[in-house]
Amino acid sequence: MDITALCVTVGGVALMGLTLWFFFGKQGGSRPAGGGEPYSCPMHPWITSSDPTAECSVCGMKLVRGNQD
Ligand SMILES: [Zn+2]
Repeated sequence: MDITALCVTVGGVALMGLTLWFFFGKQGGSRPAGGGEPYSCPMHPWITSSDPTAECSVCGMKLVRGNQD
């Protein structure tokens, strides 16, 4: 294989990986805006409530306060 083609291939893969990391990394760090409902189910994070005594409507577990600051 030509060394130039090899360098272009490696560079392209690295650039693509960096791009994917950039986009997916930002998505992974996202969180609901507003922060009005700090309690959520450990198993079902999309079940949230501002009521500390609320229970998950999916599994019935007591909602816990997340680590989100
Ligand atoms: Zn649940």
